[in-house]
Amino acid sequence: MTSRQPIVAILGHVDHGKTTLLDYIRTTKVASGEVGGITQSIGAYQAKFKGKLLTFIDTPGHAAFSQMRSRGASVADIVVLVVAADDSVKPQTIESIKHIKAAGVPYVVAINKIDKAEANVEVVKAELTQHEVFVEGYGGNTPFVLISGKTGKGVDSLLETILLLSELEELPYQEDIALSAPIIEAKLDPQKGTLVSAIIKAGTLKVGDQVATSSSICKVRALYNDLGVSVKLAKPGMPVQILGFTTLPGVGEVIVPGYLTSPLTINHVPSTIPSDPLAKHLNLIIKADTAGSLEALKGSFSSDVYLISSSTGDLTESDVLLAATTHSIILGFNVKVSSSVAKLAEAEGVTIKNHKIIYELLEYIEKKVLKIMEPSIDEDELGVSTVIKVFEINKDIIAGVKVDSGAICVGDTVHLKRGEVSKNAKIRSIRIGKDEVKKVEVGKECGIFLSPNLDVREKDVIIAYKKKIDDI
Ligand code: GDP
Repeated sequence: MTSRQPIVAILGHVDHGKTTLLDYIRTTKVASGEVGGITQSIGAYQAKFKGKLLTFIDTPGHAAFSQMRSRGASVADIVVLVVAADDSVKPQTIESIKHIKAAGVPYVVAINKIDKAEANVEVVKAELTQHEVFVEGYGGNTPFVLISGKTGKGVDSLLETILLLSELEELPYQEDIALSAPIIEAKLDPQKGTLVSAIIKAGTLKVGDQVATSSSICKVRALYNDLGVSVKLAKPGMPVQILGFTTLPGVGEVIVPGYLTSPLTINHVPSTIPSDPLAKHLNLIIKADTAGSLEALKGSFSSDVYLISSSTGDLTESDVLLAATTHSIILGFNVKVSSSVAKLAEAEGVTIKNHKIIYELLEYIEKKVLKIMEPSIDEDELGVSTVIKVFEINKDIIAGVKVDSGAICVGDTVHLKRGEVSKNAKIRSIRIGKDEVKKVEVGKECGIFLSPNLDVREKDVIIAYKKKIDDI
């Protein structure tokens, strides 16, 4: 079994040399082999030593570490406690020791600045004992290393010690389990929106994944590694910057697969929830005015309805975002929908059905379910055509078809049928030879441009239709 690369945090008093040490390691032990390749930090970086990868958190002030601690979890597997040999133990050294002990993380003391004439290693070791840090020779076996972040002296021994500690920890490498990725940095970028950095402790994060923290949700739009290079996925141990959070999550929150149901609860996405909006399930979010009406509603649906979330109270923006990410319809019973919520729903393409009569809601859902089971139930066929050949010109897919019945017209809504009915699109234009035409009757052949472009294949059937009922 392979082990995961250790995640290392460097703590210590201000000016004791944390940044200098991080910079030294970053520039001399570059994982990528591209010295000077890193331009802007994403809050952590990977280094390579003796063929092994290590992830160093270089978040300014290490906010992540202290916040982790208060949440009872620790982002770092190993901590380096830096103490300057010319300054010895100071208030933030003591504070750091408290954090380390509370989190129960293994650590190594790096007595820094040993190149300085004023360095006094023995004073540091002695003062540490007053805070119950006992290094070898001072009544304990806490590992320590003498280093100079400036000259690089002793840094290899430090890395050696870190690797040794991580071996003792037996950190498992688990890419196939559920994602767990603590956030180390979260900021707003005027151009890109939310920029969230996290370190993957377990599982895999991919572009397109639906993830959440205790306060925010995210459909991953893009991922960047520590060199600022766009990547498709991030594996255990990797630091990664994530684009796609709807709101800024807090540093220290842990990213997991799932979505947000209320400000404080995350529901993990059950594997059965279809992410495909056309899958044969109706995803529903219910909001009701009272617990009683909520129960009544919940008890009335068939098994084709998948209840994503149900709660009492007025509709909120997070309900809408949840609906958008889970392709759900929101059903409101006697609740308020503020104009900002309605606007968001419109922008996100989320349907909100708000009624004061339960019967109407149920009838609506029944129709919706029917529609999902039998997509063409409410349609009148206008024209049916079969795809003879597919062409691609300038990224446009052109379906060469023969009209088998009725007629097809520019502007018609169409289904693509390949065994099952799937996908909706509109006919953008029709051509016969080089001529644009508006309508093609039965028996004729033509080329159809659809909008959006669909993955059309030969022998597919394209059905132009008109809805019978407007409401669905
Ligand atoms: P931080 O606040 O803990 O991140 O400390 P810095 O890395 O910014 O270091 C504070 C000062 O100490 C800077 O002027 C560094 O150049 C200096 N410094 C850091 N490490 C060493 C070292 O090993 N030897 C010497 N002589 N100076 C150091």
